Amino acid sequence: MTGFQLPDTLRQHRPLLLACEAIGWLHMVGKAKVDFLRSHGGQESDYEYEKWDELETPPFPWDDRFKWVKEKFESYGNAFPATFTEFIRKHTKRDKGLLGLLQAGHAMASGIEKNLPSSTAKYLGQDVTHMWLSSAFGQPVRNLLVDPPELLTEAGWKRLLEQIEQFLTKLQWLGNNDLSNNLDGWWRWRDETIGPEGWLRKAFTGTLAETRLPNNDVTLFDQSYVAAALFKSAVAGAVLEDSSFPWSSNGLKQQTRWRLLTIGIGADHYEARAVKIGDWTGARLALDEFFTRVCKLVEVDLAIGSLLYADGEVCVFSFPGERFGHDKQGYQGGDLQIAEWQSWLAEQIDGYASKANLELPPYCHISEPSRSLVGMTAEIRKARETVIVPLHRNWQIPGQEDSSDGHVCPVCLVRSNRSENDRQRPCDPCKARRTHRLDKWLNGGFGSDSIWISEVADANDRVALVTMSLDIEPWLDGTRLDALRAQAISEWRKFNPVLKNKPNHKPNPIDPSTCFDSLFQYIKEKLQSFDNADPVLLGLQEGYQHETDWKSFFSKIVEDRSKAPESPEWEKLDESGRAAWLTHQLFRKLASPGRIYRFWRQAEDFFKTLLAEFREIAATDHNRWRVRRLIIKLANGSSGPWEDRQTYGGRYGDAPVSLLYRAQTKDFLTICNLARLLKPEQDKDCLREITLELKADDSMDAKRLVVHSAADDAGALGVYHPVIPLDLSPVRFRVLLPLEAASACVDRAVEAWRDQFARVWDRLPLRVGIVAFPRMTPFQTVIEAARNVEADLDGIKKPETWRVTGCETREGVTALTIKSLDHRQEILQTTPIRLPDGREDVFYPYLAVEDRDVRFPLDFRHPDGQVFRHVKDLRCGDGVLFYPSLIATVFMDSTARHFEPLCRRNLTEWLRMRDLWRLISRHAPSQTALRGAWSEIIERREAWQGPDRTWFEGGKTAWLDFARAVFHERLCVRGACLETLVQAAGDGLLDWSLEWHMSVLKKQVTGGDR
Ligand SMILES: [Zn+2]
Repeated sequence: MTGFQLPDTLRQHRPLLLACEAIGWLHMVGKAKVDFLRSHGGQESDYEYEKWDELETPPFPWDDRFKWVKEKFESYGNAFPATFTEFIRKHTKRDKGLLGLLQAGHAMASGIEKNLPSSTAKYLGQDVTHMWLSSAFGQPVRNLLVDPPELLTEAGWKRLLEQIEQFLTKLQWLGNNDLSNNLDGWWRWRDETIGPEGWLRKAFTGTLAETRLPNNDVTLFDQSYVAAALFKSAVAGAVLEDSSFPWSSNGLKQQTRWRLLTIGIGADHYEARAVKIGDWTGARLALDEFFTRVCKLVEVDLAIGSLLYADGEVCVFSFPGERFGHDKQGYQGGDLQIAEWQSWLAEQIDGYASKANLELPPYCHISEPSRSLVGMTAEIRKARETVIVPLHRNWQIPGQEDSSDGHVCPVCLVRSNRSENDRQRPCDPCKARRTHRLDKWLNGGFGSDSIWISEVADANDRVALVTMSLDIEPWLDGTRLDALRAQAISEWRKFNPVLKNKPNHKPNPIDPSTCFDSLFQYIKEKLQSFDNADPVLLGLQEGYQHETDWKSFFSKIVEDRSKAPESPEWEKLDESGRAAWLTHQLFRKLASPGRIYRFWRQAEDFFKTLLAEFREIAATDHNRWRVRRLIIKLANGSSGPWEDRQTYGGRYGDAPVSLLYRAQTKDFLTICNLARLLKPEQDKDCLREITLELKADDSMDAKRLVVHSAADDAGALGVYHPVIPLDLSPVRFRVLLPLEAASACVDRAVEAWRDQFARVWDRLPLRVGIVAFPRMTPFQTVIEAARNVEADLDGIKKPETWRVTGCETREGVTALTIKSLDHRQEILQTTPIRLPDGREDVFYPYLAVEDRDVRFPLDFRHPDGQVFRHVKDLRCGDGVLFYPSLIATVFMDSTARHFEPLCRRNLTEWLRMRDLWRLISRHAPSQTALRGAWSEIIERREAWQGPDRTWFEGGKTAWLDFARAVFHERLCVRGACLETLVQAAGDGLLDWSLEWHMSVLKKQVTGGDR
């Protein structure tokens, strides 16, 4: 498209836009000083975080550092506040110009958190003795004053100010030297600050923006980053509107809205087509580079928005939106030309995809304007649903035009490989992706991670693909927050027996014995007419006093904050419906932008931490050769020629050998599990003069390698972790591990999940799939099996109803026993219900129950009728609804295996199955005895079962009696241990445990330890 000038307009304003983003990141820097937490924790002090700069000696030169912006963009003179200091002084107020736009972004990102009037919400404060930062899912993370992060120390604060000085100096330099279009310079400046390893991200993530319960989950970084993104996009919008932008309006804070820019690409198709692992990891690299280019365009080149969400397939950016009323007559303001932006951006992004030789067209979409981000999940979903279709629109596949002769490439299936006789040869772009990944690895780009399945394979030559997800999407669109409370109605009532509104004090009219119903009735009656002096509503919502009618209050409190498929609308509801929504929404924990941002960061961080732990577990071996690589030099008598960067495979004794040839140094690098070749006590010199028969990948010709020497001087490549991460995003974690390490890794993941998500276990399920396979299994078969497992586990979109069979609260923890309706499964789940300072947690641990009546003081009902109950109030016989955490294991001993129906089990069964093995392993006298006993009872079971595995009359009882006798006699087990085995035989767990440990892992029992 030619003639579309707006991108250039933005480019001319790049220094202004990025300076504004920087102001956004830093506008609450005063909260990063320990005094802020102290003053909120009850220690009287004069500290005002908005004036932190004055307390420094000399005062921090905030204004001086930004003066250049005003000089450079003189024409915006009246848009700037009198001094830049006003950005930090007045960010919570209501002004005009650029300051008004920062206030709009700030209010969206953080104001939504504190719409409780401070007079009625005092009781939610934390004291200096217990100033906790919690996770987004209610887990206490750190007492910031007792165990302060570096930032909250004297030295940390000084260091932060130094970093800010350097950061602003760099910004000024970049701003004044932007003529050279120094995009890389800007990108680095930004990335060093707020990128994954950025100093500001690290510092601000360690402390709070909100100290009050339960909003002590939003870190200073979440709020500052999101406010900055919104501020930046709002300023870009103002620049685009140019002279028609109402700079002098005082309504910017209330009227500003934003759009979302969503970019997607069908990453799924690449993994489905990958012939070798290198095709997938190579494609992944190409896709990541594509997304990085998109980020550079949006965040730095145009500086029109910032990244708000990213997984491997979709990313979402903030984008300017028209203010309220733009579609009405008499709108004062210019046109953002969204349609033109849409096609211009699509064209740019298509260009990037083309350049990266991507076979699929990217997706590019700009949303409708809104004042909340809860519509983000719908945008992400729309993108995913579109890119499921490979060619969802016209797309000229790069490189397809010159497909004259040769075979179709086996990887992309679209381009010609230009080879008449080699069907396996990939086309040039696909080959380049494999090579690109190899180059990156050789240059240390993957750190200590491996890229070779041959290195990951364990002592039995087996590998596991472990895949995990947390079902995080319903958190991003806010639906799973329905069960969380910003405060409990009964607590609010208890701490506010008198409502103190000027000029009168009135007793709280809500009946403390029937809080929920009483409040609902009260609001319903009040809907008759609007009274902005109503003491109850004034005590619940800060903004109520400024409202003039119910409809607009409802639109702000309810409609704009819930984007469920059936969003509540004032017009479509009767009085009861309206009252029910208000009652619900006024006490619900809110899906504010900062919090949504935190959800996805935290899901991703959960997997990142696990990956680090998996590395350690996978690298644990009694033989240190397990994690080593050697350089092999050739001796005379070796055949040749060898191809550069080709992998060669063969055997040495019964051990598989894989080597990578490097032409430059004329040597081989080992890329296999050396613990198979060398005993722990053996020296590398044992390999000297041995002869290996090697074949190149996809080749039938054997070559001879005589080893001259083996050296351990491979530098950074000399030691590795035997793990290959395939995917790590908020929605999915996939990693290849040695099979023998996989069980311990999954144990660890279950433990971490139980620990970190104990308050929301019913609505944030961990789903785990393990695909175990022999090293030589075709990668395509493995990935297909993994995808089947994932589809099966993720297919559970509805909660299950189970029955409570036990509920006991002791020492601040509720232990809940629940049974599935078919009585086959039982789960014991513990939920912490006490906060670290001793108060009861009335914010997180609520479960959806079958009961339709509100019975306990903490009970509440969603407008759709669902009742939620605090976990401690549950009683035996209650039905509870939850999203089950599941696991499925598949062993691909033959390629036919993965067509068998999957067996998914509850995650707790995994732990029982593991314990069972430990028990058996300790008691069984020998492997032979165990095998004998097992085959005897399986044989007998077949006699008592029909062909479809149903039991004959009385068969199961008889069989279990038989099993008891066999275990008694052959394994010599007695008492409780015997009963555990019999029970496990009855519910199928013994099958799973023995198959998994003996057949899949080839474990031996230790025996004799009785
Ligand atoms: Zn290809």
